[in-house]
Amino acid sequence: MSKQLRAELCLANNKGEPDPDCEYFTWKQPTRCDECGQWIHDYEYYFYEKKSIEKSQRHLIRYFCCISCYMEKLPTESFLHPANKIVKKELSLKERLQFYQNMVTMRRYFEVQFARVPLNADAYFHLNGGGDKA
Ligand SMILES: [Zn+2]
Repeated sequence: MSKQLRAELCLANNKGEPDPDCEYFTWKQPTRCDECGQWIHDYEYYFYEKKSIEKSQRHLIRYFCCISCYMEKLPTESFLHPANKIVKKELSLKERLQFYQNMVTMRRYFEVQFARVPLNADAYFHLNGGGDKA
């Protein structure tokens, strides 16, 4: 399992409340684990795909499972799909992207957003015309 920057660690290094509307993602196309329903943050994951024989429908099943669910369910093989068909995958580099998304406005940010911390005026310099910039 590779070490990654987790949301919890980022927040611990900052003072202030994280914006509760913001979610942290590491996948360019955020994907939920089909077992626990949580967003997958690790770049290693488990996957099962069932393709349709008919060309009209490309995928019958695209199943994603996070590492922790896989480890938890492996002893009993209590997956939604046959354990021997589930393969380990790693997200390609171009599919990786660390960002925060406000789930209300759906805006994406590359830095953690805070709920009650005054906005840094410099960050919005370009928006207000920069009139008072020294
Ligand atoms: Zn899971």
